[in-house]
Amino acid sequence: MTYVADITRIPDLPLQAHEHGFACFSCGQPLTTSAVRYDGKGGSILLHLRCANEMGQRLIVDSWTNRRNNAPAA
Ligand SMILES: [Zn+2]
Repeated sequence: MTYVADITRIPDLPLQAHEHGFACFSCGQPLTTSAVRYDGKGGSILLHLRCANEMGQRLIVDSWTNRRNNAPAA
């Protein structure tokens, strides 16, 4: 994940960019200034800072409590 100070200066458009601007991947509300960018295999997403914070905590909680379930072979 990468902090983006000004989303209008992103050279390659993330997945959820459209003609009306950028929307947060998590809550769907407009992004106007800064964001957190996550680059995945199929493209990139943008999140509000608070939404990225929330998502990070949820990922940790969900993965930590289930870390021994269906663990891939090392
Ligand atoms: Zn959001």
